[in-house]
Amino acid sequence: MNLDDSGNIIKIHKIDPKVIQDLQMKNVLPTNDVFKYDYYNKAGVKQISAKVIAVIRDGQIVDSVERGLNCQLVLDKTNFYAEGDDQAGDEGILSCKKKEMLQVAILLTYQLMKSIGLACSRNHTALHILSAVLKNNLSYFFPLSANVGPKELSLNFTTKGNITDGQLKIIEKNVQDYINAKLDVTQYQMPLETLKDMPPCKTALIKEFAHLVPVVEIGKSNEQGLLKSVEPCCGTHVKSTEEVGSFIIISQNTKDKEKVIRAVTGKQALIVGKDGQNYDRQLTELEKYVTACLEKPQVDVLELWDCLKEIKEAKVYHETELPLMLFREHQEKLSELREKLAKATNSFVQNGFKEVKQEMTDVLKKFSKENFIVHHLSSVGDGRRIINYAIDHSGEKPALYFVKDGYKSIICSCSVPKSFVDSSFSALLWINPVASVLEGRARTSNKDQELYYSVVSKRTHKVEQAIDIAKRIYRISF
Ligand SMILES: [Zn+2]
Repeated sequence: MNLDDSGNIIKIHKIDPKVIQDLQMKNVLPTNDVFKYDYYNKAGVKQISAKVIAVIRDGQIVDSVERGLNCQLVLDKTNFYAEGDDQAGDEGILSCKKKEMLQVAILLTYQLMKSIGLACSRNHTALHILSAVLKNNLSYFFPLSANVGPKELSLNFTTKGNITDGQLKIIEKNVQDYINAKLDVTQYQMPLETLKDMPPCKTALIKEFAHLVPVVEIGKSNEQGLLKSVEPCCGTHVKSTEEVGSFIIISQNTKDKEKVIRAVTGKQALIVGKDGQNYDRQLTELEKYVTACLEKPQVDVLELWDCLKEIKEAKVYHETELPLMLFREHQEKLSELREKLAKATNSFVQNGFKEVKQEMTDVLKKFSKENFIVHHLSSVGDGRRIINYAIDHSGEKPALYFVKDGYKSIICSCSVPKSFVDSSFSALLWINPVASVLEGRARTSNKDQELYYSVVSKRTHKVEQAIDIAKRIYRISF
């Protein structure tokens, strides 16, 4: 099985077409794989034994292969699902009693990695339910392709216009309702001409089966108001929809005109659900705190500035895959709060910028006799903007500034004109010891990677010590 990091199938040819030709010439019959559907309880498919009918080593059919070497085997039967019909292949262990050599006619026992096989069966079942629900809920639904792996499922399709959050919520709930309804999932063969829905993405599958096409049916037509889905498919599925467990949509994107929905089920859904709960708890706390700060009768603008930074950070960053609907709900709240905070801090930002213009005139006067500038700016506002202004207006001197950015952080930036840069002094060499006192990491800006560095720190009480270090480093260097 070949999956990428997110569990999607990577399509590559694993057997040389020439080897297949050789096998056919030797009248080696295709492996009987009906056992992959022998799903007998929640533990998955039954274990079976199989006989080796061909051994392939380095693209050649051989009689045997010694212990410790890689080879490919052709078996008379298998309970593994081979990659196909948008579903990832199974993984497992083959074992035999004979230890020295592997040869034709030897008997092997399969041990399927149950967790992977089962996860694929759950996801494949959910994929059919999702398709049926989309068809019921969207005015137009045209499936293009799908991917089912052990980690997640994804469905590519086209529809008219955008899918709203409200629609997505209903879609997710409908799928979960059908899962909870314990609908039967059955697989059988159907004459091609009686198949009503034949999505173009299934053409290859249909071509493979001339008259009778394998289909999977979920729900029964006589169950009123319930789902009924019949689709051509040769993937593996669970026997009852309830075995799918939870269903959570983790993303919905539009690429060109194609829509993609990604979702998780079973154990993976439990993990995503738990991460979602943690995210929800943290964000709800932050939103409550920010709302309280905004509603204080005497607003503290520095506190609001800290809030704004935290909200911006929370908006762009989250560590794990999350339930999409929950994520979007918080995104909406965060946008609302960000707007309120930007309004509330607007004049503070403007004033800070006016202040630094005045302050820089004094700073340049104060340092006119020095070869360098190390200064803690007293202007208060958008720290980043203030310090950038100071750096840009320092003339042709190495300059290093500190500025308060809200209550919680301090920014330090430095610039060193090219003529001052040598093997013992540069912007990075100057700021690194300062960054280590502040326990932050010096980062270069995009505008001039050699000459400009900056560090943001929460250790506001270390500024005096950092200023001393910065002055000392300069004096040692020159
Ligand atoms: Zn299927």
